[in-house]
Amino acid sequence: MANHTDPVCGMKVDDQKAAAQSTHEGKTYYFCSQSCKSKFEQNPKQYASQQPVS
Ligand SMILES: [Zn+2]
Repeated sequence: MANHTDPVCGMKVDDQKAAAQSTHEGKTYYFCSQSCKSKFEQNPKQYASQQPVS
């Protein structure tokens, strides 16, 4: 089990339970909902650059 942060809304997402996922520049991002995935895919660079420091 691994927790990821939804880059759109900042919610913690378990990769086993993620509602959606998307790959951008070789990195996989997990989303709490299809709606967050859609926002990410409309502007991936904006969200991919906001990776939180963990
Ligand atoms: Zn989300």
